Amino acid sequence: NVVDKVTADNVDQLVGHFPLCMQHLHRKLRELHHLKHFARMQYNLFLKGIGLTVEEALIFWRKSFSTITDEKFQKDYAYNIRHNYGMEGKRQDYLPLNCHSIITNKQPGPGDQHGCPFKHFSEDNLRAFMAQTGVRKDENLKEILDLVRGKHYQVACTKYFEITKCLEDSISRDSGERHLMETITHPNSYFEQSALQLDL
Ligand code: SF4
Repeated sequence: NVVDKVTADNVDQLVGHFPLCMQHLHRKLRELHHLKHFARMQYNLFLKGIGLTVEEALIFWRKSFSTITDEKFQKDYAYNIRHNYGMEGKRQDYLPLNCHSIITNKQPGPGDQHGCPFKHFSEDNLRAFMAQTGVRKDENLKEILDLVRGKHYQVACTKYFEITKCLEDSISRDSGERHLMETITHPNSYFEQSALQLDL
């Protein structure tokens, strides 16, 4: 893994390297002290992919679900967290979800937090979230929203990465290239590229 030691206590410091889908889940977890099943699975598998061990995952989720008792946590949530790590049931070692799966499977309904903001947020919510997380210029917001309207969700995510990481400045104006990076296809590769860039 890019980051040597991801622990329950340092996840908050890494959120700036997460793609929008995972930034959203992290914010909602902090706000609600809870996430529903598919959101929990999407986020837990992502955290597993960046190097959080099952022991640290149990600490992370227990602390995050701060409004419930230990008994309820053990009864209703600990099993699923261990299950994602292949330690329960069929002992399948589940992989972190890729973008295609997040965008096309299990469409979120009202009150659900899982999914991809580029695909599942309203345009107003997406614009506001991008503005809050580092897309400052109207022309950049418009460029990304145009990609979303064309249903190019992963290209929009890649553009968001380039803009928020200031990669755009280094794109040659003469090259005719629209993107410096390969199109993002996985939240974990987004994280790895971001972390690599800052040499974490
Ligand atoms: Fe997450 Fe992929 Fe959507 Fe980007 S395109 S926000 S990495 S699901």
